[in-house]
Amino acid sequence: MSDIEHIKEKVLSNQRLNPDDALVLFDQAELLQLADLAGQRRRDLHPEPVVTFVSDRNINYTNVCVSGCKFCAFFRPPGHKDGYVIETSDLDKKIEETIALGGTQILLQGGMHPELDLNYYINLLQYIKSRFKIHIHGFSPTEIAYLADLSSLSINKILEKLIEAGLDSIPGGGAEILVDEIRHKISPNKCSAEKWLEVMKTAHHLGLKTTATMMFGHVEGKKHIIEHLLKLRKLQDETAGFTAFIPWSFQPDNTKIDVRPATAVEYLRVLAISRLVLDNIENLQVSWVTQGDKIAQLGLAFGANDFGSTMIEENVVAAAGVKFRLPKSEIIRLIENAGYTARQRDCFYNVITAS
Ligand code: SF4
Repeated sequence: MSDIEHIKEKVLSNQRLNPDDALVLFDQAELLQLADLAGQRRRDLHPEPVVTFVSDRNINYTNVCVSGCKFCAFFRPPGHKDGYVIETSDLDKKIEETIALGGTQILLQGGMHPELDLNYYINLLQYIKSRFKIHIHGFSPTEIAYLADLSSLSINKILEKLIEAGLDSIPGGGAEILVDEIRHKISPNKCSAEKWLEVMKTAHHLGLKTTATMMFGHVEGKKHIIEHLLKLRKLQDETAGFTAFIPWSFQPDNTKIDVRPATAVEYLRVLAISRLVLDNIENLQVSWVTQGDKIAQLGLAFGANDFGSTMIEENVVAAAGVKFRLPKSEIIRLIENAGYTARQRDCFYNVITAS
């Protein structure tokens, strides 16, 4: 039996893939073979032909950041004329609009701002919660690790304070590739892979659910992608705290990394490999923001079961020149045209309305 046939048997009998299996698939499997296997895994996890989406808005409370990641077109260094910290009136307006459009959550993310202390974050969360009934999915592990350093407090203490103030869940941003050799090349000032995982582990132990992401298609190799997935799988075995995984490809415009963008085929291969390796993370999301609507539809045949967010507002990828926009009605149309039933969900992947 060839390696691929052997791996296929393992997938069909729901056995866990090892790192060698994943590399063989990555190197040798035909594209449609990957779709077939990832589709099978998806059907095992989600027998109903339903694709979910969430209605939310990204709110970037600041674009000031000392990290200077080479792939980031969004941040401004401290003192830059275009740097901002969000005004309360803007925040109110954005959340009011989100709620009016049927949004159920906000994704609150910023940068590593050296002058925003723990009190700023506590006040921000308490302010939002005192005025709005909305889920706050906020602050990537990178921001939390930076705040812990700035405050000379433990990650556990920072998270306890943020949860007490109203933080409901954590997005998986800042993961990029969870291999320090790669992180040093693209974001040398960001927290280490170990620290990123520590923040997630601590959050899971405190009862917070989180997502996990991966930004690929820059200076990494296949083995780094596999290592990233295996680190997530290991932590998920321990905590079961990740609700979903979202891989997306690096968008090079306006950044300091000069590579050709990942192709649609490369994206679909990574999506399928992710579905096959991450057997313990229930949901896999397509990234229409970076891939566009057609490839996102195709992604549903490569193991994904979630269409992500309506993203009433998105600034980070837009800063790299990628500006796909999809209203809720269009997301539903795309899901249904791809042959699935569309369902709006909350942050925990519970279906909240029949659409
Ligand atoms: S990716 Fe995040 S941490 Fe890196 S420079 Fe941009 S805002 Fe800062």
